[in-house]
Amino acid sequence: MNAPSTPPRESAELDRLHTQIRACTRCGLHATRTQAVSGTGPVDAEIMIVGEAPGFTEDVQGQPFVGPAGKLLDTLLQQIGLRREQVFITNVLKCRPPQNRDPMPSEAETCLPYLRQQFALVRPKAVLVLGRHALERMLPGVGTISRVHGQIFMRSGVAFIPCYHPAAALHNGSLVEDLQKDFDRVREYLDQLLSKPDEPAGESEAPTREPEPEQLPLI
Ligand code: URA
Repeated sequence: MNAPSTPPRESAELDRLHTQIRACTRCGLHATRTQAVSGTGPVDAEIMIVGEAPGFTEDVQGQPFVGPAGKLLDTLLQQIGLRREQVFITNVLKCRPPQNRDPMPSEAETCLPYLRQQFALVRPKAVLVLGRHALERMLPGVGTISRVHGQIFMRSGVAFIPCYHPAAALHNGSLVEDLQKDFDRVREYLDQLLSKPDEPAGESEAPTREPEPEQLPLI
């Protein structure tokens, strides 16, 4: 699914990286996983979606966001005119933590280089940061998910947009509306971006602080 402008090198590199991820034994999670879940989507995707970690269904099927939270994600994408095939979807952790427990900091640290490499190859224009764990890793220090969801944080020309995690909205129905609004914000940003393709769209009304370099693990 390469656009003509995408060098095939990047697609091949992404395939190689995903093969490496599937064989990874860098942390203890490899012993309990069924399989590692590298990520799906075109290497030239403009949007990258980053969740926390594979759950039960993802671990079985080897694809990100294919369980109940994934169904909600598909609906949210559809509501803003996007299909999952158009976006690159992955997680901070590539392996399921047993019983879906929270990722341990050491596991996230060990796994982050994979996300950094995916980010460098895909070079998205916007990143949807789903939930507090992805937020802590990708935008450390900006605030809690309940405070910053729906805001746009520009980092080196890329828009990082924290959103509630779809699984949180499945547990707490009152978050669904917030999540829909967060996705509407994403649509607005993309519309602005598409109207001026050579420059990042305007920043959100909320102040967006540039963090210290060590707080910017992805770029
Ligand atoms: N939750 C996540 O954070 N990622 C998935 O892939 C599925 C559920």
